[in-house]
Amino acid sequence: MRDALFARIEEKTDDLVDLTRKLIQIPTINPPGEDYVGCAQYIGERLRGRGFDIAYVRGEGTPGDSDRFPRMNVVARREGAGPGSCVHFNGHIDVVEVGHGWTVDPFAGVVKDGKVFGRGACDMKGGIAASIVAVEALMEIRPDFPGAIEISGTVDEESGGYGGVAYLAKEGYFSKPRVDHVIIPEPLNVDRVCLGHRGVWWAEIETHGRIAHGSMPFLGDSAIRHMAAVMERFEHDLYPHLATKRTDMPVVPEGARQSTMNINSIHGGLSEDFDGLPSAVVADSCRLVVDRRYLIEETYEEVRDEVVDLLEKLKHNRQDFRYDLKELWSVPPTMTDKAAAVVRAVAGEIEAVLGRPAEYVISPGTYDQKHVARIGHLKDCIAYGPGILDLAHQPDEYVGIDDLVASTKVMAASAWALLTGEVA
Ligand SMILES: [Zn+2]
Repeated sequence: MRDALFARIEEKTDDLVDLTRKLIQIPTINPPGEDYVGCAQYIGERLRGRGFDIAYVRGEGTPGDSDRFPRMNVVARREGAGPGSCVHFNGHIDVVEVGHGWTVDPFAGVVKDGKVFGRGACDMKGGIAASIVAVEALMEIRPDFPGAIEISGTVDEESGGYGGVAYLAKEGYFSKPRVDHVIIPEPLNVDRVCLGHRGVWWAEIETHGRIAHGSMPFLGDSAIRHMAAVMERFEHDLYPHLATKRTDMPVVPEGARQSTMNINSIHGGLSEDFDGLPSAVVADSCRLVVDRRYLIEETYEEVRDEVVDLLEKLKHNRQDFRYDLKELWSVPPTMTDKAAAVVRAVAGEIEAVLGRPAEYVISPGTYDQKHVARIGHLKDCIAYGPGILDLAHQPDEYVGIDDLVASTKVMAASAWALLTGEVA
């Protein structure tokens, strides 16, 4: 069975490359959410021709949704010949902006040196193409497959996934009994199973001062100096403390195997959008945004309280220190158990196809698995797909054709193992 399936996939290499190119040629840039309808329909109509039932689901009223830029998702489902579980492949159709530094046309789908180039080649149109061809090959070899197979193309992953997987999960598309196993073909490298991701906490801190003439700053109170005191506490207390928090989560790269915090932005005093000389004023407000990534060993409350405690201490120790804290966004960490069926199936097939054991990893940043876990309450979910993670969002992004073929084999054989319950 496996030999016939893999031979069929190799015969389909040109089709796989062609499908990857066609998807790249639809420039689904987010923001604003360019041509989502065209891309959803391209996937939907191809699968309709393969006997799938197709639903187009618009994320009505979600961020960015408008008649000009509708948040259009596609969900394709094909029932099998008998009872069994449902395997779902979910790929996001949006890509990030092009940026500078390209040596090839980012939307031509250039094929060169055994690679397909273009914005979204690895993140993640190559992965979508691989999952579609995997499923098509499997249905040709085993038209009598049990259970059900689903493929979705969803929007806005790059901007939080609220019009995509989150919306569909609220509508019941990512829950039992409809779906049992979810594979998200993000570019995590062809030999790695991604079990989940770290958590996120974003917050804005604002310090307050009192405006005065800049030649007599002692008559005012500088919000920027108050913020400098906050940052000094970050440097002396918080950052060293975060560095001691190591995790058992196998996060890659290694540097992310601890708690981290980025200072996303800082603004104080006059805005920069003027010509000429600034006026002489003491800043009465300074705002700073932090992007804290946290571990499965930490709780959201701990993460928030570390910052709140630091600010409260300053309030007691520093004259006239006043602040506001606004929480902007948070996502809990998620990690699928290594013993879960989808993990065992994919890891087993990685070893069978590539001849080496699978590596288990955790993504430093979040992706749509958060919505499957939190809204859909489905724990049997991983990311696995072709392409090198480091190339995502870069100029001259590409996916290797060998990787595409290998991951297609892994996906097809894993789907079979999950549908039939024959997990190694
Ligand atoms: Zn992605």
